[in-house]
Amino acid sequence: MQDCIFCKIIKGEIPSKLVYEDEDFVIFNDINPKAKLHYLAVPRKHFAVLAEMEKQDEFLLGRILSKIPTLQQKLGLENGYRLIVNQKGECGNDACQEVMHLHIHILGGEKLSM
Ligand code: 5GP
Ligand code: ZN
Repeated sequence: MQDCIFCKIIKGEIPSKLVYEDEDFVIFNDINPKAKLHYLAVPRKHFAVLAEMEKQDEFLLGRILSKIPTLQQKLGLENGYRLIVNQKGECGNDACQEVMHLHIHILGGEKLSM
């Protein structure tokens, strides 16, 4: 997607602190961290929201969710972490999704309140 900030980060057109990458997705530091450690796991393929994913793309989320626990030590998340996926809805944006390229927030490094 031409004007998508995360597509540009994935292509290396915008700098980011990349902490993991493979053929399906990347993980980089959030530019405005909401916890001591705040990463974003982002599929290389552009989807705005979950609803845009097609049948053949379903494996992607499973791959990301199963890879994250193997990176706990590397990411400093041995004490646990929280995953968040904000989703803009058809009629509004109650979850305040700001970047319209599907991503999973990974938060940790401190005790998080609900
Ligand atoms: P959302 O509100 O869409 O779930 O979260 C988007 C996240 O992307 C925010 O936490 C925001 O700080 C982060 N973000 C926005 N622009 C950039 C950027 O250019 N680089 C990085 N690393 N993170 C960004
Ligand atoms: Zn994108």
